[in-house]
Amino acid sequence: MLFNFQLSTQAQGLVDITAEVTEAITESGVNEGICIVYCPHTTAAITINENADPDVKTDFIAGLDRIFPDFEIFRHAEGNSDAHLKSSAVGASETVIITGGKPLLGTWQGIYFCEFDGPRKRKFYVKVMGD
Ligand code: ZN
Repeated sequence: MLFNFQLSTQAQGLVDITAEVTEAITESGVNEGICIVYCPHTTAAITINENADPDVKTDFIAGLDRIFPDFEIFRHAEGNSDAHLKSSAVGASETVIITGGKPLLGTWQGIYFCEFDGPRKRKFYVKVMGD
């Protein structure tokens, strides 16, 4: 089953979408399987990372800003090549194991939608397969 979700983002940042992914799995009725969380945007991404200390989200963006600055050599007229680089580096999707009708995540893991060029209206998909 395919589920889609919408969200409104800030300029840059990580949005915890673990609850939405869990909701999709519950609604699908799948007990054992996998799901793919997919972002159909070129300046955003999906990742799994720490959900305990909110400073990790801030540091995640601060670190990517250092690795992918807005270089003067960029030619892309939209002026957001740094966001395109971050999107591909982090990746458009994550695969999550489903067991017992829930996403198999570590104690400190959450699933995040990563915005690199907001604020925008965004969407993401959850494809649930199994049983
Ligand atoms: Zn662009």
